[in-house]
Amino acid sequence: MTRGELEEATPFRQVLLKVHSRCNLSCDHCYMYEHADQSWRHRPMVMSKRIIDTTAARIGEHAERHGLGAVVVILHGGEPLLAGAHTIDYTVRAIRRAVPKTTAIRYGLQTNGLLLDARFLDLFAQHGIEVGVSLDGDAEANDRHRRYADGRGSHTGVVPALRLLQSQRYRHLYGGILCTVDLYNDPVDVYEHLLGFEPPGIDLLLPHGNWTKPPPGRPDDQTQTPYAEWLISVFDRWINAPRRETRIRLFESIISLLLGGRTTSEAVGLGKVDLITIETDGAIEQGDTLKTTAEGAAATGLHVARNSFDEALAHPAIHGRQQGIAALSEICRRCPIVKICGGGLYAHRYRVDNGFVNPTVYSADMFRLIRHIAGRVALGLPVKGPVRGTGV
Ligand code: SF4
Repeated sequence: MTRGELEEATPFRQVLLKVHSRCNLSCDHCYMYEHADQSWRHRPMVMSKRIIDTTAARIGEHAERHGLGAVVVILHGGEPLLAGAHTIDYTVRAIRRAVPKTTAIRYGLQTNGLLLDARFLDLFAQHGIEVGVSLDGDAEANDRHRRYADGRGSHTGVVPALRLLQSQRYRHLYGGILCTVDLYNDPVDVYEHLLGFEPPGIDLLLPHGNWTKPPPGRPDDQTQTPYAEWLISVFDRWINAPRRETRIRLFESIISLLLGGRTTSEAVGLGKVDLITIETDGAIEQGDTLKTTAEGAAATGLHVARNSFDEALAHPAIHGRQQGIAALSEICRRCPIVKICGGGLYAHRYRVDNGFVNPTVYSADMFRLIRHIAGRVALGLPVKGPVRGTGV
């Protein structure tokens, strides 16, 4: 990568820190433990103070070098609360010390909720850490996948955490609910169950899969779009509500893109990747979802003790993911909705024989969903006639 290319690269504005590499659940759809990459087996359980300090210094160095006005730091795992309050407190303080005062830091934490109590939330209130909780629906829906290793469901254990976040005392820390779509669950029932916890936002995630290992229930027949139908049921329920009950990032991003705006979801649009992941051992990696494709697919070979974030920006895989439409498959480049879909989530484009130069395995679903939403916002996109540009 030339110096000029580095100057033009989009700096990292989101840093995902794996403060703990294990989990107290054993969900069968987990991208960390249940897919191709098994690197978690060889990593330390908890991020050490030495790695935390070095990572904090790298964030500070990057923020200063690029004059960043703000960075987002996401505390993640495994289950980050297993790292304990002391480690989380230490991490947040170390980053604040290392980052220039002119750079605002927004902290987020994604948890399964089982350990989330008032003690943690008081600490989060002290540091302004926003919390997202994972829940896939009611007990039957959620517990089909989100179970303990001994088979017990987790729904009952998550409810108290969500009730705490709903309370007046902690409401300002409530980031929202992250829900993985399961075709076996009724979409409107799932949505309405989640609404019962008054989340400020819901993230609907498609289960991870790719052309080599297709997602559950994604048929080979590309005229069928079961995931689009599921999402459209939620979209129609959401958009037709008499008042806006919550935010749904995927739908809001698609609408924003249709109106010429930006996406806040990496699942759609042509936004440049600005997220970097630091594992508990200090390894610098690309997004976690790549772990669903092949062993080592998220690795860069870089480490916070040896390498700056600018060196990560120059890594061919990360550089490639900042090339927008030019990095997409020819099928996507010719697709009439490419600016909205963006080829889908990067990990979902994988095929063992040619890597990532493919449409997403959800191409047909994305086309159908976007066409439906475009029709709803009546923008006159080329959406009439048979489904085209589905990549197959
Ligand atoms: S071909 Fe499919 S994956 Fe590619 S942009 Fe179009 S809808 Fe999206």
